[in-house]
Amino acid sequence: MRVPFIGGNWKMNLSLTEAVAFVDELKQQLPDKNEVETVIAASPLFLSAMIDHSLNSPLQIAAENCFYEDYGAFTGEVSPKSLAEIKVPYVIVGHSERRRYFNETNDIVNKKVHSILRNQMTPIICCDETMGSLDSGDHFAWVVNQITTALHGIDEEVAKQVVIAYEPSWAIGTGNSASTSEAEEGCYLIRQTLADIYSDEVADEIRILYGGSVNDQNIVKLMQEPDIDGVLAGKASLQPSEFVKLANFKRLK
Ligand code: PEP
Repeated sequence: MRVPFIGGNWKMNLSLTEAVAFVDELKQQLPDKNEVETVIAASPLFLSAMIDHSLNSPLQIAAENCFYEDYGAFTGEVSPKSLAEIKVPYVIVGHSERRRYFNETNDIVNKKVHSILRNQMTPIICCDETMGSLDSGDHFAWVVNQITTALHGIDEEVAKQVVIAYEPSWAIGTGNSASTSEAEEGCYLIRQTLADIYSDEVADEIRILYGGSVNDQNIVKLMQEPDIDGVLAGKASLQPSEFVKLANFKRLK
């Protein structure tokens, strides 16, 4: 059984004081970790404090990015080893904003996936889909190529633990979510791709999230789809009360 995964991606928002207050406010209102995993990804500057404040609660704190080398002359980058040292369990990689503004290619994503796994953390691999790929009708190939390249060289036993997020960039931050069937279609395509790369058994174990303007109005229907195992929410994760609603989606109507 795939445990539902409710993730928040704060991007470059909130202050350290707000981040800690957020954790303190919501940590008692989350479901048990075995029932629903709840994860917030935040700035590397906030992670240690957030991890300290979330101890003995179900909330897990993730990084939004890291570099692919552990050490070296890479001014301004964040080492995956240092994230592992402060016990970060998950790292987002290949978010569409990183691809668009920081030229993160599929090959770079693959290097980062290797480095995150080598440091005993779990990558949340974002798979973009642009309006351009939709218009030109090649969005299936676009998605398949991203997944195949991101997982190149990853053994199936290790691949089982990764999390993949299907995030059409036209739905991110626009308030214009993919429809339930569009989101399911993207997640199904990713699962089929995983089955082709590995096997049905491996594809069945990997959690696939949908991201793009998720909120308390659309999450219930999204979570009913067979291939959507969770969500990655940007805007709706910035308010504790909103994130608590997403985390407790089983109680929403
Ligand atoms: C995101 O940043 O990954 C995201 C899905 O943002 P939003 O929910 O605001 O569309």
